[in-house]
Amino acid sequence: MSELELIQADILYTGMGLPIRNGAVVIGGQTIAAAGKLDALSAQYPQAEPRHTVNVIAPLPVNAHAHLDMSDYAFQALPYFQWIPEVVIAGRLSRGLAGAKKGLAQVRASGAAALGDIVWPGTPEVMDWLLSEADMGGVAYWEVLDPNPTTAEQTFAQVVQDVARFRKLERPGGMRLGLSPHATHTVSSRLHRLLADFARRENLPLQIHVAEHPSELELFASGTGPLAESFARMVQFSSPGLTLPEVLGRPPTPGLTPVSYLAELGVLDARPTLIHMVNVTDEDIRTVAQAGANVVTCPRSNANLQCGTFRWADFVAAGVDVALGTDSVASGETLNIFDEIAAARRIHTDLDPRLIVRAAVKGGHRIMNQYGLRSKAPFLRRGEAWDERFVWPSV
Ligand SMILES: [Zn+2]
Repeated sequence: MSELELIQADILYTGMGLPIRNGAVVIGGQTIAAAGKLDALSAQYPQAEPRHTVNVIAPLPVNAHAHLDMSDYAFQALPYFQWIPEVVIAGRLSRGLAGAKKGLAQVRASGAAALGDIVWPGTPEVMDWLLSEADMGGVAYWEVLDPNPTTAEQTFAQVVQDVARFRKLERPGGMRLGLSPHATHTVSSRLHRLLADFARRENLPLQIHVAEHPSELELFASGTGPLAESFARMVQFSSPGLTLPEVLGRPPTPGLTPVSYLAELGVLDARPTLIHMVNVTDEDIRTVAQAGANVVTCPRSNANLQCGTFRWADFVAAGVDVALGTDSVASGETLNIFDEIAAARRIHTDLDPRLIVRAAVKGGHRIMNQYGLRSKAPFLRRGEAWDERFVWPSV
């Protein structure tokens, strides 16, 4: 019998139940002999040689939300409503395949098990490459942007065509195709409905940016504020004269929130994955829990764009599955999911860190698993193969 080794961990997550504190893994050769409480394993395996104590032992985490095609952008912290025009739109010529390849190399080097990536429609070659060649599992979401209701049918018809073409490129074990209606207010209500119905019929996973900055709440409640103003300026280029009530298919109203608006449209019935969700009401959290939608939080991006702090404990208490994503390098700084986990611990100091570990693994895989994707974390238990990468970098 090969020699046994015991590794202690402040937090051990076997992939089942909740992570435990003061855990340990006993390994013999490259196989796990046992995983559990340190006390119990020390007593059970007195011959096992104790190795160093580590911070976390867990399956590899998932980066559930990124924008690889923005990896040639420079990082810039600005308020969200200013960051969109001054960074994202101003730098759009640097988007593309070169950045996406660089970004994927960074995601792979960081050790993420799978990736949820948004692909900008200006660079369809990125989607072709992700689906047909990229060496990574997960979902590549084709982004849709069109606030003008008069072109909703035309845009939708193009999406249907794009999806039919992209679907032919999917490979077993490779990335799967999804859709991303960009945000609550950058897609018209009519197009939101068409896309949600289509995604449901076609089993397409969805990601939508929702309730990112406080100014988004103001936009829905009164149609005023800095986001309403910057959005009005942006739409004048593509659709002169287009008003917010036309985009939303209704007037902004006190009490209307980005989440209640999506619920009203029936979009939540497609069980989309909701990105950010920083500026939400108690009622919004209940609505999302009832709809069975997942949520992804990007703590560094939210801090850098002055969005506020995600109400993590409240979502968990309501039974919502939370996952973690880096967002793009332009707001999240790096595509390393372990940097995001470390930031989550720094930002959410009152949160039990075991919830962060579980979110990064299980929350991420749940999203990648939607609609029959076979993305699954290995369980750390007797008889399973040991991988040194289960010892996480200190976070
Ligand atoms: Zn994003």
